[in-house]
Amino acid sequence: MSIEEKEKELSVYESMAARYDVAARKLGLDAGLSHYLRTPNREIIVHIPVTLDNGTLGVFDGYRVQHSIARGPCKGGVRYSPDVTLDEIRGLAAEMTWKCAVVNIPFGGAKGGVVCDPSKLSKGELERITRRYTAEILDYIGPERDVPAPDMNTNEQTMAWIMDTYSMHMRHTVTASVTGKPLDLGGSLGRREATGRGCMITADEALKRFGWKKESTRVIVQGFGNVGSQAARLMHESGYKIIGVADISGGVFNTTGINIPRLLGYVEKNKTLQGFDGGESIGTQEILEQECDLLLPAATESVITSKNAHKVKAKLLVEGANSPTTPPADDILFDRGVFVIPDILANAGGVTVSYFEWVQDREGYFWPEDMVNSRLKQIMVSAFDSVVGFGEKHNVNNRIAAYMLAIDRVAFCIKLRGIYA
Ligand code: NAD
Repeated sequence: MSIEEKEKELSVYESMAARYDVAARKLGLDAGLSHYLRTPNREIIVHIPVTLDNGTLGVFDGYRVQHSIARGPCKGGVRYSPDVTLDEIRGLAAEMTWKCAVVNIPFGGAKGGVVCDPSKLSKGELERITRRYTAEILDYIGPERDVPAPDMNTNEQTMAWIMDTYSMHMRHTVTASVTGKPLDLGGSLGRREATGRGCMITADEALKRFGWKKESTRVIVQGFGNVGSQAARLMHESGYKIIGVADISGGVFNTTGINIPRLLGYVEKNKTLQGFDGGESIGTQEILEQECDLLLPAATESVITSKNAHKVKAKLLVEGANSPTTPPADDILFDRGVFVIPDILANAGGVTVSYFEWVQDREGYFWPEDMVNSRLKQIMVSAFDSVVGFGEKHNVNNRIAAYMLAIDRVAFCIKLRGIYA
């Protein structure tokens, strides 16, 4: 593989576009409309000046890409990482449009990010970066425009700072300006667990199709942040056998099953999996290639590529992370008969409960947790059935089916609205 081919395989935007092209072609989408939907609406680049704790001035690059408002306000996370690039944010913004359409909620797609290393920044520095980033993109966000949420290395606290900064400029508290907030500031019950819970709901549906039992389904989870830890906890509680878990520091593997509550306690205390004695230690990439039934990548993008897809032993891949599998890896997995629940379906539980949070903030009336969870289940099961049914009807894999379903819904709205001026 040439360097250009390798770069293309690892580009999040190119991966999205490759799948998009296949789906749009199969749908017979008009060339002009197809070009329009493949391209983001707006890309904002900001350079954020921040006074660091040592008194010097740091400048951080930040992005917000808004892909589509065809079905409603933009919606999408904000990530902090030294690896953030415009290409990545552009690809993830488009994926948000497709994800919201797959679960049929009234949002378009966006994504944001700041190039920074949170592990090297103090809480005060992170707060100042967040507030200035928010101020720089202020004209383009808001409950009716674009609603940010947490993503890699951002959390409820980050959302509280964004909400406060936005509210100070509006001169009143606007809780619906972000989702994934702390409960006391208009957050929703069930939001913290929603992405992991959504992964489990789709996995449960796949198990029903295969006639598998949870107790004998061996699960490996890569990533132990919000998505991975909640998925592992909920799946452990509901009877799945979690045999491998990894975070960026490494992994732990135990064929007799990992004691997840004990691991959660360990990670809460030590902030890392490293040193946990409940199994043998294993590399964070190596864990993807271990014998198991269900693999749940919940860390970062492009971890399953043309280099390692043929080594994946799982028969069921539930994509908790965004874009963990590259298009060349898709083909390898498909040939090997792996049932893939694609990211824009598997991890859509997060944006679904974000939608519930936005609704609750706007109506000023909050739902009990069981209502949040049961409505989430209803949406996830229906989306799973639609995607798998669409795939069977059109003889395409689940990922292309999810893209086709989503593109069709967004294109339909654009045709109804027409092109302005
Ligand atoms: P997080 O920051 O809470 O956790 C990320 C986890 O992945 C950490 O355990 C980290 O150690 C690990 N990790 C990071 N890089 C890694 C690597 N190279 N190898 C192995 N482990 C690595 O992030 P999160 O919110 O859990 O998000 C994880 C993924 O899920 C991202 O792709 C994100 O876009 C996606 N996602 C998140 C949500 C959500 O609600 N948080 C919703 C949908 C999709």
